[in-house]
Amino acid sequence: MENKEKNSNVENVVIIGSGPAGYTAAIYAARANLQPLLVTGFNSGGIPGGQLMTTTFVENYPGFPDGVLGPELMDLMKAQAERWGTNLYESDVVSINTDLRPFELKTLEGTIKANSIIIATGASANRLGVINEDKFWSKGISACAICDGATPQFRDEELAVIGGGDSACEEAAYLTKYGSKVHLIVRSEKLRASAAMVDRVKANPKIEIHWNTIVEKANGSEWLERIETIHSKDGKGEINIKGLFYAIGHTPNTNFLSNKIDLDNKGYIACKSGRPETSIEGIFAAGDVVDSEWRQGVTAAGTGCMAALATERWLAEKNLAKTIIRETPEPEKKLYSSDFDEDEVNEDTFDSNSEWQKGSYALRKLYHESKKPLLVIFSSPSCGPCHVLKPQLKRVIKELDGAVLGIEIDIDKDQDIAKQAGINGTPTVQLFKEKLLKKQWQGVKQRSEFKEEIKKII
Ligand code: NAP
Repeated sequence: MENKEKNSNVENVVIIGSGPAGYTAAIYAARANLQPLLVTGFNSGGIPGGQLMTTTFVENYPGFPDGVLGPELMDLMKAQAERWGTNLYESDVVSINTDLRPFELKTLEGTIKANSIIIATGASANRLGVINEDKFWSKGISACAICDGATPQFRDEELAVIGGGDSACEEAAYLTKYGSKVHLIVRSEKLRASAAMVDRVKANPKIEIHWNTIVEKANGSEWLERIETIHSKDGKGEINIKGLFYAIGHTPNTNFLSNKIDLDNKGYIACKSGRPETSIEGIFAAGDVVDSEWRQGVTAAGTGCMAALATERWLAEKNLAKTIIRETPEPEKKLYSSDFDEDEVNEDTFDSNSEWQKGSYALRKLYHESKKPLLVIFSSPSCGPCHVLKPQLKRVIKELDGAVLGIEIDIDKDQDIAKQAGINGTPTVQLFKEKLLKKQWQGVKQRSEFKEEIKKII
């Protein structure tokens, strides 16, 4: 694609957020030849890709009769947005100067100027604040069953999920794959999840629902062992569990707006009903950051489309659009392949010079025989954050010309290795040199952090 007219350092439109709303807005804006810049978000407001990155199978997104993994759906949307010419910018927006024209967006990496903005920053998972929550965070308490459920400490143990929505029900059902029993703790006498989800939970013999119950305190020594509960009629109780997972709803990601755009009384961006325009002309909003009611992947995508069409119209009306001219009307098609399907290497496929391999065979061979430092990522099936991190690590290794070798361990398949390595959540990355553990990271981190640490030891 050639950029013949859009030549200034002012973007037509900056889209903030990389969930279904952000990527759909990007697809529409890109196809309108506006060459949008999409700021993916990184540390604030959850991981790039949004809430679907921490979901297993999405069974209600149209077009996927057998369901689709949340992270895979997001990968497809991203690929579609990029194919039509969206530029991605991996950072967080920390503030917007709404008094200037063009607008100025401050990111962690620098300033971006834009004639229009679409805010699609979604919402983040809430914490409960039970007594001892900090002490047992990542030592039994987690906000993401889908990411952490497969860790060895939860195997065949009793676990609990707090909440009564779709997330809580989905997570309770998911955890029955790993735990011996799952307690679903609901503060009222009803589940607010969809009927299909409620049926699934009620039909699962490994799930016990505790109605009208709240959790007050977490107890244990090094790892979570027990929670203290209060039942609205029966009073205090205790449940012995090794894992406690929160699924208690979300808060819209609007902090970076510093009250410069009107919010409603729940903190969501205020737009006229069914419209994407915010209180500031030229700034539009879409997805969960405006929607306290429907909050579905498909509704977010729908409002993302609306925001992009409204932006396109507005830019044209104000004569601000600088469109690109494509060399060919249709961008090249790329065969999409999913990172989920990578094979583990074995005796026949192992290659001591390969920069990236998967599985315990590769780890054992390289650990004992390689002189190069090893970067090991412990992941689990359908772990969205792992999916974000893997390409980052692959890029780091490439940028370092293979001075370090990457290995992925699926902790679901290689429980013993995960146990030996002390893994208590995914993704966890360990950096080894000459069989010594030099550094460990948990969760998604910036590429620069890995690079600096690796450079120090090579
Ligand atoms: P949600 O629908 O807002 O449900 C939050 C749940 O947490 C409610 O049951 C609420 O109880 C409970 N809760 C809130 N604060 C609490 C507290 N302090 N103590 C105990 N319980 C508390 O959130 P969600 O389940 O994350 O779902 C968000 C949206 O995503 C929904 O629209 C949902 O349909 C969608 N979603 C869809 C899927 C899917 O289709 N596969 C999966 C996940 C989510 P009350 O009911 O008493 O208020």
